[in-house]
Amino acid sequence: MSTTSTQIEAPPLGEPYLLTPGPLTTAYATKQAMLRDWGSWDADFRAMTREMRDRLLALLGPGGEAYDCVPIQGSGSYCVEAMLGSFVPRDGKVLVLANGAYGLRAAKTMEYLGRAFHTLDKGDYLPPRGAEVARILADDPAITHVLAIHCETSSGILNPVHEIAEATYAAGRKLLIDSMSAFGAIELRPDDIRYEAMVSSANKCIEGVPGFGFVIAKTAELEAAQGNSHSLSLDVHAQWAHMEKTGQWRFTPPTHVVAAFLEALRLHEAEGGVAGRGARYVRNRDVMVQGMRDLGFETLLAERWLSPIIVTFFCPADDRFVFDRFYELMKDKGFIIYPGKLTVVESFRVGCIGRMDEAVMRQVVEAAKHSLADMGVASAAPPAKALEERAKLAA
Ligand SMILES: *Cc1c(COP(=O)(O)O)cnc(C)c1O
Repeated sequence: MSTTSTQIEAPPLGEPYLLTPGPLTTAYATKQAMLRDWGSWDADFRAMTREMRDRLLALLGPGGEAYDCVPIQGSGSYCVEAMLGSFVPRDGKVLVLANGAYGLRAAKTMEYLGRAFHTLDKGDYLPPRGAEVARILADDPAITHVLAIHCETSSGILNPVHEIAEATYAAGRKLLIDSMSAFGAIELRPDDIRYEAMVSSANKCIEGVPGFGFVIAKTAELEAAQGNSHSLSLDVHAQWAHMEKTGQWRFTPPTHVVAAFLEALRLHEAEGGVAGRGARYVRNRDVMVQGMRDLGFETLLAERWLSPIIVTFFCPADDRFVFDRFYELMKDKGFIIYPGKLTVVESFRVGCIGRMDEAVMRQVVEAAKHSLADMGVASAAPPAKALEERAKLAA
């Protein structure tokens, strides 16, 4: 069986691995690409922007010809806001499918935009299902668009975008996808899933550094978006039209971040594109989850919904376990983990994305084992209440 063709180097001495869903651990070559200044108007940088857009579009696979790519300065949330403000007409209405912090943030964005929306809030970790979407759309003919979160990074759940897309288009509505933490590692092929637009950002599965995001939308939608946006700087149509005409970004681009991202895209291609990247993340997850389970830890999600992006674990029931102390002990051993975001029970998260492989994940498990020992925690088994919560998932 072939393993990854990619040589994974350790981060520079003294730098911990970031087991977080972006910013994340990047390749040395990606960091190195930033050691040069670029003029934003210069032909060299315009060529870099062009190459970046083309490479991102190529990741769509068959059916991608109908789409174009528009980078937007800022973090991922700026792109979500730009997408909603540009593609949803002022008299449109959005069904926001929420099952965690990012879905709720999209709903809040709609509130700021002052445009109509309805939120289906599934709580911390239940997936929005196609049948529910169909029901809501049948009941509310005013809804024009559905917003789905591909991987809800707050729990790590991989939402069923296929059935959501089917329900959306069966009802004659349009789908927008926040694929921030999935794009580049999980396929989102237009010949497989129907959608008008999606967003992602530089510092997730492509393994770039933070500083911009990108909207990938049907060219027809981009053309039709003129005049929709509430915002000058977040107007996707205006950014696209300007870029098409001049090859330049409208306002100061994050030149170094783009240079790093291009290098990251080349590494992504060398690894075998979306399939290769996704396969490495799946191995990272499988090795890490198995090792953590062997220590007694339990995942929040049932196997079926576990993403290869980030995994939520319940905190152990043993009261000698204190998350802040666990965090510091893990950091001392070279690993930055991530606090949980659940409301009912205590949890923490471990990311599987970034420049690391299964050998690193084995070290993560080893570090967790020693950190538990340092705290005098004999078993990492979660409280009964946590398992009761999880049982609801299976229902
Ligand atoms: C990271 C992320 C975002 C954007 O968050 P920023 O902090 O603005 O980069 C949005 N949605 C999802 C699902 C994410 O994982």
